[in-house]
Amino acid sequence: MVGNHKSGRKPNPEGSLERSKKYTFYVKEYATTNSSGNIIGWTEDPYFQWFKRHHGSNWQKMVRAYMRWDVERWKKKSWWRCKCEPIGILQNWKHVQQRKCLACGSYYRNADRIADMTILEKQEYYDGIREQMKKDKDVR
Ligand SMILES: [Zn+2]
Repeated sequence: MVGNHKSGRKPNPEGSLERSKKYTFYVKEYATTNSSGNIIGWTEDPYFQWFKRHHGSNWQKMVRAYMRWDVERWKKKSWWRCKCEPIGILQNWKHVQQRKCLACGSYYRNADRIADMTILEKQEYYDGIREQMKKDKDVR
């Protein structure tokens, strides 16, 4: 066993690079009272009961699946990657409110890069696009 015997961690077989860590997950219960107002029983959150009914013994797997789905969705919507080395948990993810990485100079979108250009740089940029469009026309 890993740690003390109460940790609930599964043993780490030699060579395995993953293990499970136990978190306590609280589920709300609602009291049932009799006519005198005394508590005679407790009922689990109906959503949790239905969730277990739906997914059976897979309910924890489904919680983990939902977590991955939520994180992926949030990352796609609110985060972008710059060209820095991916190090640590945040790696090279930047929040969309940060339009430019000050370390590597990457921009969230091309529009943000253009917005930061001087008038001269913008002229050069659009001239380049115009020239490329001419070339593309000539090829056809
Ligand atoms: Zn960067």
